[in-house]
Amino acid sequence: MESVEDVIKRLSEWIEPLAEVEQVPVLESVGRVLAESLAAPRDVPIAPLSLFDGYAVAGPLVTGESLPVEGKQFAGDAPATLKPATAMRIFTGALLPKGADTVIAQESVEINAGQARWLEDLSIGAGVRATGADTREGQVLLESGTRISVPQIGLIASTGEATVSVRRRVRVALLTTGDELLAPGDPFLPGRIYDANGPMLEALLRAAGVEIVQRACLPDDREVIDTQLRQAAQADLIVTSGGVSVGEADLVRAGVEALGRIDHWRVFLKPGKPLAIGEVLGTPFLGLPGNPVSTFVTYLRFVRLAIDRLAGQTDPGAWPTQWLPLAAARQGGDRPEYIRVRRIEVEGRLMLEPYPDQNSGLLSSLAWADGLALIPPDERLAAGDPVEYTAFKEIGL
Ligand code: AMP
Ligand code: MG
Repeated sequence: MESVEDVIKRLSEWIEPLAEVEQVPVLESVGRVLAESLAAPRDVPIAPLSLFDGYAVAGPLVTGESLPVEGKQFAGDAPATLKPATAMRIFTGALLPKGADTVIAQESVEINAGQARWLEDLSIGAGVRATGADTREGQVLLESGTRISVPQIGLIASTGEATVSVRRRVRVALLTTGDELLAPGDPFLPGRIYDANGPMLEALLRAAGVEIVQRACLPDDREVIDTQLRQAAQADLIVTSGGVSVGEADLVRAGVEALGRIDHWRVFLKPGKPLAIGEVLGTPFLGLPGNPVSTFVTYLRFVRLAIDRLAGQTDPGAWPTQWLPLAAARQGGDRPEYIRVRRIEVEGRLMLEPYPDQNSGLLSSLAWADGLALIPPDERLAAGDPVEYTAFKEIGL
């Protein structure tokens, strides 16, 4: 059995970023990964501009002094010239007129017979956004490998570019397996269960911005599995659930071995021990265990990483943690264990409450939890002992 860290290291070394790059409209770039660094084509602002509606002057200003008002400068106008010993009416976002270096807000000015009188002292440069205060020409705004998110869209648009250069979307084949599975909506049959992993994995993959190029729910039948795996090899990554344990009906493993190889199939982790890693006709394959919580946990730790690597993202599979105290004592098991927890406040202190039943078949534990806590093996933890916690929110869930 390999540790989580070793599996992560191995995946990071083995999976290479996709080479293909495409240009997409700025708005469609949300969730995509930048293929090259984005540099600012010019200073923003291009010249000093007014922060508010007021009067542009040559500073400094001294309370009680006054100047005649001459001319107007609107946002978008080319800069006019300020006559010496005058003030010019100016509006938010307008370039400063030549000769001006300070703007006083209209609320701090008294106007009388065309004369503006200051109600406040101002030093030179007050009320002005300086050239390049936002971004400087040539400055790298976003590094290659950044996954573009909503707050960055405005910044990209402000460069004036209509499109950005991003890596091609990762194409994933998603196969769930098991004779017992019914699709949601199918009439119920005794002995069967509904395919929960399929929709859950689909939702996770969509949130990761991948293209699902193949999606099927397969019976435990070698012929069907082999046919589907052959087709799946055209994707960039094959993800399956179920059928990778050691039972007679665990045929995915045999199918993969027939068309490629399994390099590794057990990870020192609970839930999630029977994780299979290998390739099918040269395409990376990740076979997740069938128990829904195991599927979820192994997706978060390993599939996310593989997708981020293929997508060329920096810091692939990022797993932010914080140390928080457990609300109740807990005995570690024979493997490191991710338990489903919720943050609660106990006497003003943030603590982690574990879901009462940590069986890896219980989807209710996932739906209840707001994150995962890592319980080290063989350790006896007392209430109040700190453990590593990862919030679902922090990883975009
Ligand atoms: P397996 O890894 O195929 O042995 O499956 C382990 C357990 O997970 C069994 O109880 C399966 O019925 C269950 N399981 C497998 N696939 C799914 C699925 N797609 N949705 C819900 N439960 C599943
Ligand atoms: Mg099965």
